[in-house]
Amino acid sequence: MSQKLDIKSFDIDKLKDMLKDLSQPSFRANQIFDWLHKKRVYTFSEMTNLSEELRNTLDSQCFIQSLEIKKKLTSKLDGTVKYLFELSDKEYVETVLMKYKYGYSICVSSQVGCKMGCEFCASTKAGFVRNLTPSEILEQVYKAEEDMGVHISHIVMMGIGEPLDNFENVTEFLKLINSPLGANISLRNISVSTCGVVDKIIELAKLKLGITLSISLHASDDKTRSKIMPINRRYNIETLLKACDDYTEKTGRRISFEYALIKGENDSIDEAKRLAKLLKGKLCHVNLIPVNYVKEAGFEKSDKQSVILFRDTLLRYGINTTVRRTLGSDIEAACGQLRRDNLTEVK
Ligand code: SAH
Repeated sequence: MSQKLDIKSFDIDKLKDMLKDLSQPSFRANQIFDWLHKKRVYTFSEMTNLSEELRNTLDSQCFIQSLEIKKKLTSKLDGTVKYLFELSDKEYVETVLMKYKYGYSICVSSQVGCKMGCEFCASTKAGFVRNLTPSEILEQVYKAEEDMGVHISHIVMMGIGEPLDNFENVTEFLKLINSPLGANISLRNISVSTCGVVDKIIELAKLKLGITLSISLHASDDKTRSKIMPINRRYNIETLLKACDDYTEKTGRRISFEYALIKGENDSIDEAKRLAKLLKGKLCHVNLIPVNYVKEAGFEKSDKQSVILFRDTLLRYGINTTVRRTLGSDIEAACGQLRRDNLTEVK
């Protein structure tokens, strides 16, 4: 038997093509999209405005993507919720739901595991398994909304995986989640984070989406960056920042630079000054994050005083800088930790 089609990953045009092949009028595509992405049913039999015959045909040719909540942890400190979702092939990904003053924000995964090998990151330690499909990324949002009975307004692609290493599925996901016929989440409320896959940043710039691009920089010189982030051996800081300039020029969007402060590795005042020089004059913002401890890496977070000094140095040089608030610290809300622990539990 041939494999069933993943209908939740289909955009309207693809649905229309499929219905045309079934000799159905194109407005059926809108009805099906509405059932999948607005009403969010999980069986074709619930699509009551379609004929029984069409429902049966769809059922025989397609499946409706669904994720299962394998584990759910809720922070007692701030209400942050972390999900471990089980995929249909018994792989697992993590998703974190956070509550802010402006509403709910969700951090989604884009791959099972990661190839990038950043030294401080738990997501990459067990290697790479596979890309997530558009529907598997969508479902993280839909399932969290359903489970909590809330409406999510913001998305960050900062969970497990390197989004730009799964370029097509991620951009398809953005299109689907942004659709006015579906969840209709504004692209301005979506951040895509990358460790610096330069050729894909250039490709993304050409699409001129309204998203925010976050660059995981984490160092101000190539020697340090190459040591903690292998991608830097392929695309060094200069090449990366050039691509960022190109991105800003094409999209008019401000770039957010992420900088995880690691004690004794990248947190000195000289490094802050060097970073300020690198970013001078750019339309950007720096987000400082005291590194989360990951046992395989052995890196420790910078102490409070160093974080403040680092921030104040950047500010003095005119660089827009904030220190990221830590949410869910009691539930290991940092990406990759839950899936990795689960690997040893269930496999
Ligand atoms: N692959 C993408 C997105 C996933 S990681 C990227 O690299 O940007 C999301 C963010 O968390 C990145 O900025 C990443 O560098 C950071 N991160 C990973 N492990 C961390 C840790 N132990 N402490 C603090 N930040 C970490």
